[in-house]
Amino acid sequence: MGRLQDKIAVITGGASGMGAAMAKLFAKEGATVIAADINEDNLKKIAEQENVEGLRLDVTSDEGWADFVKTVIDKYGRIDILINNAGITSNKPLDQITEQDWTLLHKINSFGPFLGIKHVGEEMKKAGKGAIVNTSSYTAIIGSGFNPYSASKGSLRAIAKAAAVELGPHNIRVNTVFPGVIETPMIAGIGEYKEAMDRLIQATPMKRLGQPEEVANAILFLASDEASYINGGELVIDGGYAAQ
Ligand code: NAD
Repeated sequence: MGRLQDKIAVITGGASGMGAAMAKLFAKEGATVIAADINEDNLKKIAEQENVEGLRLDVTSDEGWADFVKTVIDKYGRIDILINNAGITSNKPLDQITEQDWTLLHKINSFGPFLGIKHVGEEMKKAGKGAIVNTSSYTAIIGSGFNPYSASKGSLRAIAKAAAVELGPHNIRVNTVFPGVIETPMIAGIGEYKEAMDRLIQATPMKRLGQPEEVANAILFLASDEASYINGGELVIDGGYAAQ
């Protein structure tokens, strides 16, 4: 028996980085995984794995979520696990941040997970059970040079807390992880990459970056029945960075 045996799990941003690591791990632990992503090419690759289906979803679309959830429910009958993981980043200096940057980051990183909780939460209520895990960021906890990104991830932290209180009575647990810098395609896009990464590694007590599988392992626990009384929980996965 796997740790997620026979669970139906939706993972947003499931076509890359941490989401892809979760898709692989969850399927190995017995779940049927629906990887939801806007990147259709990567979805096709991820869906080559056994027990992983790729379905296109733009997490910022209310209508898109309604159609997506209907498709999954029609096919599988329920959603046991939702991982709100899709996100984008930006590290522009303060004086260069535009309203457009601000809006886009909040739309994807904060409104997207909110919509997921709204739509999937309704189905979980009908089933009388469910587990939701959100991927926030260490930048929501400490000061960093990622202004609108940090704000969007702090917003997600508050959304998750509110949802834990509202959905807890329905036997739905809502928890959040706060990864540090993890080696995924997302950070490869950050400017002055090598220099920035060297600085971050030196500033991290464990003197290395995190790997997507290390985040996936923690999320697997929170999504599983092993975490049956953990609701509104917050888990930092950053090699000790935020503890300083
Ligand atoms: P990634 O870029 O490898 O994966 C993110 C995925 O989200 C991509 O597949 C992308 O297509 C998808 N996505 C983006 N916009 C979308 C949309 N509108 N609808 C659906 N899917 C969309 O990045 P990652 O590092 O694996 O990031 C996963 C999550 O972890 C993100 O929320 C990110 O902010 C967060 N995070 C990352 C780090 C890090 O250092 N990599 C640290 C802390 C938190």
